[in-house]
Amino acid sequence: MTGRIESNRTEQNDLPDRSHHSDLPILLDMTRWHVRCRSCRARRVLPKHPDLYRLQPQCRRCRVRNYVADLWMNQRNTRAMACYCYGYPFIHRVSSRFCQFRKDRTERLMGDPDFNARGYEEYLEECNT
Ligand SMILES: [Zn+2]
Ligand SMILES: [Zn+2]
Repeated sequence: MTGRIESNRTEQNDLPDRSHHSDLPILLDMTRWHVRCRSCRARRVLPKHPDLYRLQPQCRRCRVRNYVADLWMNQRNTRAMACYCYGYPFIHRVSSRFCQFRKDRTERLMGDPDFNARGYEEYLEECNT
């Protein structure tokens, strides 16, 4: 009986509990993760999220296996900046010239200084003449 409980525990500890990482499923297919060593703060890029390693790679500086995702760096990832709005007929970087959104995902509206759309400059010129 005792042996059975212990084998169950081993199975559960095989992979860490990741239920608190709500953003993980969307980001699973990312292939470049900016991480930092918890021990010496060294930066590194890994092909997987640090939580998905059973055995994390060793830090090249301090030899500790304790990497944590650098959230700020990962938000700069091109994939995270992808936008699907109607400013372009294709997926583009948010806040591109005709994109309807700014980098902080607030909406650019007609009349805003950074608003732009195809033909909008011509339209303004027509209004001014
Ligand atoms: Zn380190
Ligand atoms: Zn857009």
